[in-house]
Amino acid sequence: MTQPTCTKCKKQPSIYHRPYSGERLCGACLASSIKDRVQRTISRHDMLQHDSRIALGVSGGKDSLALLNILAEIEEKHPGAELIAVSIDEGVRGYRDESLTIASRACKEQGIEHHITSFADLYSLTMDEIATGQRELAACSYCGVLRRRALNQAARSLDADRLATAHNLDDMAQTAILNLLRGDLNRLALMHPGGRDLPGFVRRIKPYCEVPECESAMYAHLHGLEFQSLPCPYASEAMRTDARDFLNRMESKRPGTKNIVYRTALKLAPEARRTGVMGSCETCGEPSPEPKCRACQLLESLAS
Ligand code: SF4
Ligand code: ZN
Repeated sequence: MTQPTCTKCKKQPSIYHRPYSGERLCGACLASSIKDRVQRTISRHDMLQHDSRIALGVSGGKDSLALLNILAEIEEKHPGAELIAVSIDEGVRGYRDESLTIASRACKEQGIEHHITSFADLYSLTMDEIATGQRELAACSYCGVLRRRALNQAARSLDADRLATAHNLDDMAQTAILNLLRGDLNRLALMHPGGRDLPGFVRRIKPYCEVPECESAMYAHLHGLEFQSLPCPYASEAMRTDARDFLNRMESKRPGTKNIVYRTALKLAPEARRTGVMGSCETCGEPSPEPKCRACQLLESLAS
């Protein structure tokens, strides 16, 4: 059976069917449509300036390495802009050490400066120690908060004015569902892909937020990117796994569901954005809307 022809270039055989748009795309058209989408997201949310110094969080997974590839191309077209990669070593033996090796290699190949900072250095704790110790929450609840703080500190110390993360559309839709299930309107504000200018925080941007995870995987394969595909051993504990399964089931029955969930959450986000107030944590001095930041609250709960 012959492959249908690409609906965009009308020349090459298609390799990918986009159920939510009905398009059938060849590899080149799929890759260029993903790059265009990232570029449109950046423009729509005013994410970058011509001289932005961007710190990109790179884990060594497919999404961050694909975004590294795309942002490096964009940076080349804007000589005033700079791209630096930042990785956080949470201390998950057999998982993060491997992905950091992959991340370092990818940065070296592309000539991008790469900085690594670890939970062990910042908090004198590793995720393995947190996960195997006494705790009340899922491992990811500690990891997510501590990593966000580590990334912000790293980006700030590198004088970056943007902190980019490679959250994809699936991540955004899952976060929307989780925030709604927790009734947490303030966290919806943090979903805004263009970020907020808050004292002490490097503005966080999410240029990859409209790219579905399956297309990100295709992009990585099409570009021959080596990435870590092993899941973190603590991932299955997270409520996020339930949200992912639910959204995947819905998406296969009703293509476009993830996009609708994400866009609906964004409509709520501007309201929440205006309510953000920022002070300093009385313990660590990092910016915090509460007298004690969430990272210090969690670290203290682990120590008690
Ligand atoms: Fe951290 Fe959870 Fe991600 Fe593992 S899956 S690296 S514990 S946030
Ligand atoms: Zn603190």
